[in-house]
Parts: sequence; C-alpha cells; structure tokens
Amino acid sequence: MGETQRFQAKAWWFPALTACAALLALFSHSFDLQLVAYVAVAIQIVPIAYTSLGRGYVNTSLFRAMAFVGIADAATIFVRAKSGSNAAARIAAEIAMLVCALLVMGAIAIVARNRRGRDFWGVLADAGIVALGSWLLGWILLVQPRVDKFDGSTWQALVHNGYEPLGSVVLFLLMIVLFSDTVRTQAVWWLSGSIAFAAAGSIANALTTTGSSRNLGPSAMALNMLGYGCAYAAMLHPSMRSLTERQPVGPHRPVAGRIIIAAAALIAPIMVATATVPHGRLDLVVRMVSVAALALVVTARVVSAVRENRSAQVELLQSAHTDSLTGLPNRGRLLEHVNAALRDSWKSEAHPTLFFIDLDRFKNINDSLGHPAGDEVLCTIALRLGQIVPQRAIVARIAGDEYVVFDPASPSVDDAMSLAELLLNELHEPLSLNAGDVFVTASIGVARLDPQSHRSAELLLRHADTAMYQAKDLGRNCVALFDESMHAKVTHRLAVETALFRALERHELQMFHQPILELATGDVVGFEALMRWQQGDGTNVSPAEFIPIAEETGTIIELGAWALLESLNQLRGWIDDGICSPSASMSVNVSPRQLADPNFPAIVDEALRRSKVPADLLWLEITEGIMISEPELALASLQRLRSLGVRVALDDFGTGYSSLSLLQKFPLQRVKIDRAFVNGVADNANDRSLVRTIIAMGSSLGLDMVAEGVETMQQLRVLGELGCAKAQGYLISHPIPADAMRGTVKALERLKLSTAAPELD
Ligand code: C2E
Ligand code: MG
Ligand code: MG
Repeated sequence: MGETQRFQAKAWWFPALTACAALLALFSHSFDLQLVAYVAVAIQIVPIAYTSLGRGYVNTSLFRAMAFVGIADAATIFVRAKSGSNAAARIAAEIAMLVCALLVMGAIAIVARNRRGRDFWGVLADAGIVALGSWLLGWILLVQPRVDKFDGSTWQALVHNGYEPLGSVVLFLLMIVLFSDTVRTQAVWWLSGSIAFAAAGSIANALTTTGSSRNLGPSAMALNMLGYGCAYAAMLHPSMRSLTERQPVGPHRPVAGRIIIAAAALIAPIMVATATVPHGRLDLVVRMVSVAALALVVTARVVSAVRENRSAQVELLQSAHTDSLTGLPNRGRLLEHVNAALRDSWKSEAHPTLFFIDLDRFKNINDSLGHPAGDEVLCTIALRLGQIVPQRAIVARIAGDEYVVFDPASPSVDDAMSLAELLLNELHEPLSLNAGDVFVTASIGVARLDPQSHRSAELLLRHADTAMYQAKDLGRNCVALFDESMHAKVTHRLAVETALFRALERHELQMFHQPILELATGDVVGFEALMRWQQGDGTNVSPAEFIPIAEETGTIIELGAWALLESLNQLRGWIDDGICSPSASMSVNVSPRQLADPNFPAIVDEALRRSKVPADLLWLEITEGIMISEPELALASLQRLRSLGVRVALDDFGTGYSSLSLLQKFPLQRVKIDRAFVNGVADNANDRSLVRTIIAMGSSLGLDMVAEGVETMQQLRVLGELGCAKAQGYLISHPIPADAMRGTVKALERLKLSTAAPELD
C-alpha cells in the first residue's frame, strides 16, 4: 500500500473523532465536559505532530511550533475558565494565545512563500483586498461593538481584540496560498479547512461573548475542534511535505473566481460601512483608514494588471520575432531587417548581401544521435555564426536547419564570397556535443541586393535559396552566387515537378523496353524497362531529368510501383504471345527512395502475383549509392526482396565508388558495367583492362555480367572476348515501345547478333 492509500485508510479517523468530540462539546450541558473534550483534542497535536515528524512530513521547527500552539491553546482555555479573577494568569494566557496566532501566521507565511506562482503581485493584491475587506466587515460588526462595551484600559482592549486584525492577516496568507497557481495538494485543502473552521470559531466566539468575558461558547469550541481535526488530517498526509518546499507552478488557473471573491470582499464591507453610522471617533478613524487602505490596494491591483498586460505584450512580440530554440531572430524579423535595408539602399554604395545556409544531411544527425543532439547542433551553430560574422550583420534561423546571415553593407562581391568561404570553413570545424564530436558541412547560397530587380525582401531571400540549391547540386559543402540563369532553371524545375504529380493520371507516362542479348548465342534473354514521359504538349522529358525529381519529391514510389506492374504485365503478354522465350526476364530500375520504403517488398510481391510472372524472371536494378550511404537499410531491404525469389542487379557499375567489396557484402546476382567503360573498351587499353578486371572478378564471384550501352560491333566482340555474358545497347536495339517488340525480337533472332557472328560494321 502506498503512502497516500495508507493515509486514506487511517487518517479519516482524526477528523471523524474530533467531529464526535465537537458534537459532544456542542450538545453537552456540562462546561467541564466541554473543557475536557476541548483540551483532549487540542493536546492530541503533540503525538500527531510527532508522527508527522517521524514520517518526514514536517521538520523539527514546525513540529515544535505546532506542539506549542496546541499546548498553549489548551492551557489558555483552561486558565480562562479556571483562573477566576486572577488577572495576571489571564493576561499570561492571552499573551500565549497571541504568540500562538503569530506562530500559525508564520507557518502559513512560509507555505505562501513556497507557493508563489505566476502573477505574484496580482495574487498579493487580491489577497490583500479580501483580507482588508474582511477586516473592515469584522471591525464594524464584531470588534467595534465589543470595544464600545469594554471597560478596561486601552492596553487590555488591545490584547483582548488583537485576534481580529491577526485573523485578517491569516486570511491574507491563506488567500495567497489558494489564489496562486501552484499545484493544490490535499494537505493544502485540509489546512485551508482548518483555518476556515478556526476563523468561524473566532467569529462565533465574538458573537457570543461580550466585554472582558472571553470564555469560549460551545459552538466556538466545536468549530475550533473541527479546525484541529482538519489540521491533523493535513499533518498526516504525505503531501504535507510539499508545504515546506518550493512548489512548481501548475497550469494557468482561471482568474474569474479570484475576481469574484475579491469583488465580494470589496463590495460587502463598503455597503455595510455606508449603511451604518460610525460610533464615535475611534470607529470613524478605523473606517477611514481601512477604506483608504482598501482603495490603495485596489489601485495597486489595477497597476499590477496593467503592468502584467504590458509585459505579456512585450513577451508576445519578442516570441513572435525570435526563434525559440536558438534565440536568434526568426524569418519575420529577418525580413524586416532586409526590407529596411532595401528602403535605404539608394543612400549608399554598399550592397546588402544575404547568405542562405543549409546544413548538409542534418536529418542524419537527428536520426542517428537523436533530436536533443540535433537541437544542440543547431544551437552551437547559431553561436558559431554569431561569432564569425561582422558586427553589422544579422544572423537568423528561418527554419529547421536553415540559417540566414544578412550583411547590410557588404562592400563587394569578393568580400561577400570570402565571407561565405569563411562561414563554410568555420562550420566544417568539429562541434563538441555532449555525445562527442560531430562534423557538419553546409551549402551556402549568396544573393546580393540589386535595387532594380529586388523589390521585396522575400525575393532576395528566394534568390539566395535558389543559389543554395545550386550549391547542393554541385555536391554540397560549397558556395554558389545567385545569377539569373539559376532562376530560370529553378522555375523550369518547379514546372517539371508540378507536371510530374499529374503525369500518371494523365497517362503521359509509358514504359519502353530495351532487349538484352546473350552474347554466346545471340538470343534475346531479357529486357530492361525504361520510363518515358511525353507531356501533353508533346515535349519529351528525359528520365535523367525527371527521375531525380521524382526521387526527391517522393513521387517515385507511386511511379515505380506503376512501372513495375506495367513491365511485368508486358513480359507476361510477350511470353504468352510467344514473342520471347518463357525464360526471358524483365529488369526494372529501382531508385534508392523505393528501396528505403518499408512497403516496397510488398509492392513487388503484389506485382508478381497480379502479373503471374515467376519471381526469378524479375531483376531489380539498383545503384550503389544507397548501399554506401545506408548500408544496413539497403542490406535488410535486399534480403527481404531476395526472400521473395527476385534477383538483384548492380546498375551503372564503375561510375561511383564501385567498391568491389559491395559485391561480396550484398546479395547481388548481376553486375551491369556502365556505358562509360563500354564506350572505350574497343579502343582504349585502360578501359579494356578495367572492364577485364571487373568481368573476371564478377564472374569469379558467380555474378552474371551485363554490358550496357554497346553501340558498335567491335565493342560487342571485345566484350565477348573478355568473357562478358550479356549486353544491351543501341547496336542491338534502342529502347522501344511495347508494340514494336515483336518485330525487333524477330529481327534480332534472324540476325543472331552474337560474338561468333561475322563483323557487321
Ligand atoms: P540506366 O538504368 O542505366 O538505363 C540505361 C540508360 O542508357 C537508358 O537511358 C538507356 O536509354 C540508355 N542507353 C541504352 N543503350 C544505350 C546506348 O547504346 N548508348 C547510349 N548513349 N545510351 C544507351 P534512359 O532511358 O534515358 O534512362 C536513364 C536512367 O534513368 C536509367 O539509367 C535509370 O537509372 C533511370 N530510369 C529510367 N527508367 C526508370 C524507371 O522506370 N525507374 C527508375 N527508378 N529509374 C529509371
Ligand atoms: Mg538500369
Ligand atoms: Mg545503367
């Protein structure tokens, strides 16, 4: 059982027992019995506070203070009842009572201090209004009539009536606790109940007693006892601990309740004060001073609200203009600066210049080291940029990993470019993070303000952005300066990108196929599927242009799935129509994005099932890029594909890193030697020896070797001599539409274009 449940099981006994004792006090006619019940309840505080101390809910000083309060209260009640006319004993008892009240106040003050949440001054003023209002009401209705009838000295009057002002102070502190927006625990509620009962007890007492007679009436006694009961429940609750510790600020509490209470506390005493006639000078003075104090606190409340409002506005404005992670100006603020420079640009010779900085492959850092490390990188870079740029420049963060440096007065293009180079070099320095050193690079686009063409800050920013993309295209980690041709390129690219989204549904895409020949026999043993795009207006867009765009935008997933099914259906048709041999295969190009898609094997499986093509007739052509950048992902994906029974070819071999180790590490069954080497195989000795090595090595690993881009008979012959098994290229056939395949295959069969054939060209 947890602490809280343990409490809930037992602690209700205390309020319940004290409630019984209170009932006894209320209905018993024997004053002695009432007295005994009261004293018994009050001195219970000692064992209960001790238990609380033992559990660590209260500390030693709080324990001592509470024990003192209980004992002193019990003793005072006893002395008041039994001391008769012994004035000294009575005064001592009253002083002890005052000390108790001060101790209770001190304890609540500590709690109030620990629970100061937001808008503390507002809470203070509201609590002040409630306390002063209650005091004025109490003075007019309770204290003043009693003071009137009191026949002792002023000193005695003070001691006898000291509780009411102190009661208002207690109320003030309690209101601070309840109005503040720290978390309200059970102990807070029990404590508030305790104070409320004690306050009701004092009011009942004030109403039933007059003049110097201070014996508690039965109802006052009962209420005080209930106050003790609640205090005991608070002391035994684990959340009591939270009262002596600084509390976190909780959710915003609606202020409506606070305002209603404060308004009631303001209106009620003022109505009573105006409806009743003051009794003598003292009453008049007290009323005047109290009303003046109330007015002051209300004014302070208004001032505090206005201030709070203003600082909230400033904060809002600030946060609307700064990036919350790095504290740098955000996009909006940056544009304001650029626009200001645009307005003033005619005044000086200097060209305001904008540097658009985008971190290269920042996603990798987030993915591998986690987002906190990513945030750390972004903050460190923000700091570093601030240290490098000239004082007059502004550094802003406008999105995820995009920063902008704006130099309002760059003297020349050379200066701008050397600043860009400096930024590049400094960013390349290792960043020391909590997780260790991290290296990042950036691509920087530079655009200089031209008052003739840059009519808005957005345009200058867009130009710098365009130049940054150019820098990415150039291989990243470099700088590019904007010029108009880039703009045209970007506009064209955007047009292609948009048109590509609709290309499939507009039936603008078509699959062409290029036959693959077995060199030993001259038979057509397979086809490579190549996508073609003819736009509505008749223009053809080359795959070399649109495939990378489809890859970047993600459209390739949809296009690739379509291409796969289309090509497999085509192969099924050709086999069924006897156009090609039943063992002819279909090679389909797969882009890295498709390979990284966890859904891809399912797409392949579905296409095979729908086209009823055996899995071993499908070759998937992939390039080495993804195997180098994300080897684990590539391996996992290839293994899943292999388990379906399809085969995998490494396309364009020889163009990139072409690490031979890839051939061993990944489940590959075919290597396609890139056109670049095939081109020189007949007349360039270097190319020939390279192709020889590739073929020898590939064959020794049991891989099927295919040469791409064979254009001449000499190339075909040399490839045959070097042991290359298969070839494709314009010599054999261009990629052609499906309906032309029957004729092409027939012609190829007739020609028997094998390495054994006589020379044709
Ligand atoms: P790739 O897979 O290496 O395809 C071979 C490319 O070389 C094709 O270009 C083909 O038309 C061309 N080619 C074939 N024989 C010769 C020749 O003898 N001489 C010359 N000069 N070129 C020859 P294409 O069709 O323009 O495709 C370019 C690239 O676009 C392909 O290279 C492939 O990476 C990609 N691609 C094409 N279709 C698809 C597709 O459906 N999906 C994906 N993901 N990529 C595709
Ligand atoms: Mg290919
Ligand atoms: Mg290729």
